[in-house]
Amino acid sequence: MIPQGFTYSKPNSLPEAMDLLAKDDVKLLAGGMSLIPMMKLRLATPEHLIDLGAISELNSISENLGKLHIGALTTHDTLANSSLIQEKSPLLAETASHIGDIQVRNMGTIGGSTAHADPAADYPASLCALDAQIKLVRKDSQRVVLASEFFIDALTTVLEPDEIITEIIVPVENPKTGTSYKKLRQPASGFAIVGIATRLQLSDGIVSLARIGVTGLGPNGFRATEAENALQNTAATDADINKAITFLDGGVEVNSDIHASSNYRSHVARIYTTRAIKTALARIAC
Ligand SMILES: Cc1cc2nc3c(=O)[nH]c(=O)nc-3n(C[C@H](O)[C@H](O)[C@H](O)COP(=O)(O)OP(=O)(O)OC[C@H]3O[C@@H](n4cnc5c(N)ncnc54)[C@H](O)[C@@H]3O)c2cc1C
Repeated sequence: MIPQGFTYSKPNSLPEAMDLLAKDDVKLLAGGMSLIPMMKLRLATPEHLIDLGAISELNSISENLGKLHIGALTTHDTLANSSLIQEKSPLLAETASHIGDIQVRNMGTIGGSTAHADPAADYPASLCALDAQIKLVRKDSQRVVLASEFFIDALTTVLEPDEIITEIIVPVENPKTGTSYKKLRQPASGFAIVGIATRLQLSDGIVSLARIGVTGLGPNGFRATEAENALQNTAATDADINKAITFLDGGVEVNSDIHASSNYRSHVARIYTTRAIKTALARIAC
């Protein structure tokens, strides 16, 4: 399968990329793990391809004032294996380690995955649970959007055609926070049939922070706020968790496809949420 013909540019700087992005019918290329297959299938037929790969400022990780700034070109493999990320954002490292296979992790990037917003992608669950911020830059302005407001439908985000994701900003995790990512993998691709990210803090044995991010269940990743609220201010007993997971769907239209019916997905999501909550609780440092 051969893509439609296109022009190819590889700018060395963000301003240069912004200028090229002003043309009609342009697509940005990061790891190519989603875009190239779509071009081969002619589901995407851009006239111009802008390869971001030579823009070094998109390929860095830094820490500033309690936040980690992760460049959009950071690969899944780097996130999974960076000792800084493992220590300061263990949820992100754990999530990245679950993506695809080693070839996909070596090429695919957090910016590309976030922009692509596949309903079965892993990061949306964790980015929502982390209250991550996504930095979007255009020629003359920039904005920062919360992950829970960024993903709005299947393959659809608030990203505008003239914007580039430059970085994902996540908090340096408080050592007293327990996190976990649990995923039922589609065996062939590794994509999530359901993926659940949890992030919990306890204060005197009572849940003082509850975050539950969900992917695979609905058209886009989301924060299960009703389930979070049900868990908040409880002792997270089995009864509390059983009650909280009944609110997980939060009114989303649950996906049904050849891999899993909506009933099965909902059932698995509740089981994996229970497991992710219990693992996160067990990981809270005493
Ligand atoms: C066999 C296989 C298995 C996979 N398994 C999984 C899995 O288990 N879990 C999972 O989450 N994912 C999985 N993926 C998807 C993979 O994670 C991709 O890396 C990811 O979806 C896209 O990232 P990319 O860097 O390759 O982006 P690309 O394919 O280069 O781009 C994807 C889209 O994002 C846009 N884009 C890229 N970078 C930016 C940017 N900085 N700003 C704005 N727009 C941008 C592009 O224009 C394009 O529309 C799999 C892919 C394959 C091929």
